[in-house]
Amino acid sequence: MAKDSGPRASLTVRVTERLRRAILDGELELGDALSEDKLATTLGVSRSPVREALATLEQQGLIDVRPQRGSFVFLPTREDTENLCEFRRTIEVDALRLAMGRRRAETLTAMKAAAEDMQAAWEEDAYLRSARADDQFHAAAMENCGNPYLVNAYRLVSGKVAALRSHRSNLPTRNQASKEHFIIIDKLEAGDLAGATNALSAHILKMAERYSHEPVRPSNGRTARSPTLDHIGPLLD
Ligand SMILES: [Zn+2]
Repeated sequence: MAKDSGPRASLTVRVTERLRRAILDGELELGDALSEDKLATTLGVSRSPVREALATLEQQGLIDVRPQRGSFVFLPTREDTENLCEFRRTIEVDALRLAMGRRRAETLTAMKAAAEDMQAAWEEDAYLRSARADDQFHAAAMENCGNPYLVNAYRLVSGKVAALRSHRSNLPTRNQASKEHFIIIDKLEAGDLAGATNALSAHILKMAERYSHEPVRPSNGRTARSPTLDHIGPLLD
């Protein structure tokens, strides 16, 4: 993102990033109906960057565009969430194996920093910071695995996973996840790669249960909430 974050960043990139943040940080609820007009007015931009931003967010899995109905923040069914976790398990276990083979020290340093930040966030009741530190813990293997195809595959789902962490977990489950992170690190440091990948696998599949107990997709898209968006406010420099 660094190359896009300077003053010359295009408006579309900024609108995309603002809406992504609104979904990830819970300013928008899963399943919310999004009106291009309302978003454009709220953000103080024209409709075309909003339309382009929604298309990019659709590619990232964060928005569902339904013909004749409009755009909605994604709202996974239980089956979607289970499939997502199975996919994560496959990708993340392989990435961890590669990362430990190729960049062991860097991987462990990044995992430990994220695990400690997540623990500190839990102690301060900083729910969103805990969710973002969880993102970082799981990103550590990706960033160090050295395989761009795995990284791209993970990017297909990382926004959804980050949003589920913010929307579908609570402090007790965040604390349990945090403890599991330290167990994974301990096994890696002890050289028990099989034990660590088993623990990571179990950790990810448990998330499927933790994230699935909330409401499922409404049967009719028109019942979706239409948020006022007032809290999002105009796009600032
Ligand atoms: Zn985790």
